Amino acid sequence: MDFLLKLVDLQSAWLIALIFLPLERLLPARPAQGPLRRGWFNDAVFFLLNRIPIGIGLLVVAAGAIAIGQALLPAAFRASVAQQPLWLQVVALMLVADLCFYAMHRLFHTLPSLWRFHAIHHSIEELDWLAAHRVHPVDQILTKGASIAPVFALGFADGAIAIFFILYQWHSLMLHANLRVNFGPLHWVFASPCFHHWHHADHPEAWNRNFSAQFPIWDIVFGTAHMRRDAMPTRYGIDDDVPVTYARQLLYPFRRGRGETEPAASPETEGVAVARQG
Ligand SMILES: [Zn+2]
Ligand SMILES: [Zn+2]
Repeated sequence: MDFLLKLVDLQSAWLIALIFLPLERLLPARPAQGPLRRGWFNDAVFFLLNRIPIGIGLLVVAAGAIAIGQALLPAAFRASVAQQPLWLQVVALMLVADLCFYAMHRLFHTLPSLWRFHAIHHSIEELDWLAAHRVHPVDQILTKGASIAPVFALGFADGAIAIFFILYQWHSLMLHANLRVNFGPLHWVFASPCFHHWHHADHPEAWNRNFSAQFPIWDIVFGTAHMRRDAMPTRYGIDDDVPVTYARQLLYPFRRGRGETEPAASPETEGVAVARQG
């Protein structure tokens, strides 16, 4: 029970709100959008509850990755990884983790069965720090799991992994925040809010672009970068029939398989979904 209470961790929730609420007032990408925008309450439910299934799922992934790493890799190799300078471990593990995140994220856009999980996240029409939490647990466990599995399997030191988790969490919140920030020339190096906002943009030229979570290098290498920084998108979201409440959103990817009522996709909607997933 203590473990579950730690995952809910309301203190960090207040800290996050105290930092991002004023920041979004100072540098808003969309000044007219306030914190009580449409869907804020549902995203708050995601914020408070989602970390429980995600935390449990990622613990299972980490334990499995450690066991596989110990079984397949020589102990001397894992020990030598953990003995590298801390800064080198952090840089190396973040690049590896982001490459694996890129691959899994792109797969979620490519396979229709996975897209139905990821569509929950792309149903966000008004991005902010709170909306960052609107992610189906299966999506988050598989995508973040793919990024942390090699980190645990390769044997990086606990300190390097802890730094990665902290940086990843705050970076992810910033990417979704309602902030007009593009990092200037460093936008080629680090993913900025502008970079990730374009991933959520309802602009055809930006569909299936900017899959990296932290380093645009992977999108540049694999030809999926949309490196525009002179403007922010004007529209976000998708045309899929994603419901608007937490419970329905959790069930949404499974509805078709259970034979529940599934509104027929219009040719237009179907076309958008296929285009997004391609
Ligand atoms: Zn996506
Ligand atoms: Zn996102």
